[in-house]
Amino acid sequence: MKRLRIFERDAYRCVYCGQQFPSEELTIDHVEPRVRGGDRSDGNLVTACMGCNTLKGHRRLSDFLLAEEVARTNFFRYAVHVWPRILRVLREDLE
Ligand SMILES: [Zn+2]
Repeated sequence: MKRLRIFERDAYRCVYCGQQFPSEELTIDHVEPRVRGGDRSDGNLVTACMGCNTLKGHRRLSDFLLAEEVARTNFFRYAVHVWPRILRVLREDLE
């Protein structure tokens, strides 16, 4: 199952708060949203806990990371499997 593979890859750690959770408390988050052309490839998917997912809401990832400094630090520390192209665009949006 793809979800579990992504959780496993990310060591069951939410990329936003940096805490580890059991799989029932985790969700998959698209870095580039589907509506903005993001696909379902592994490099566009990260592990997020329910709490952070709710906190992020419908904000764009760059808006969320701009507003939440801790999440921003954790994201760039833990989301190491995200495609470099996507990370580059994100860093540009945050400048
Ligand atoms: Zn979290």
